[in-house]
Amino acid sequence: MPNKASNKGHIPIRTCVICKEKGSKCSMHRFVIQKSAILFDEKNILDGRGYYFCDKGKCRASLDSWLKKAKKK
Ligand SMILES: [Zn+2]
Repeated sequence: MPNKASNKGHIPIRTCVICKEKGSKCSMHRFVIQKSAILFDEKNILDGRGYYFCDKGKCRASLDSWLKKAKKK
């Protein structure tokens, strides 16, 4: 029997805010925005709306400019 580590049995999919690629939640990095700053939430413990980005270096590097655009809204 496979072990039932997850309670729903399917892997949640998240979309990278930078390149819009989709990936399983566990392969994406979560961050939240608090006081206009990006807080990386590698342990999934922070409150607030979570955003995700993928593992590519350019996506992480683009987060600052993404946040500046997001703040203009
Ligand atoms: Zn990406």
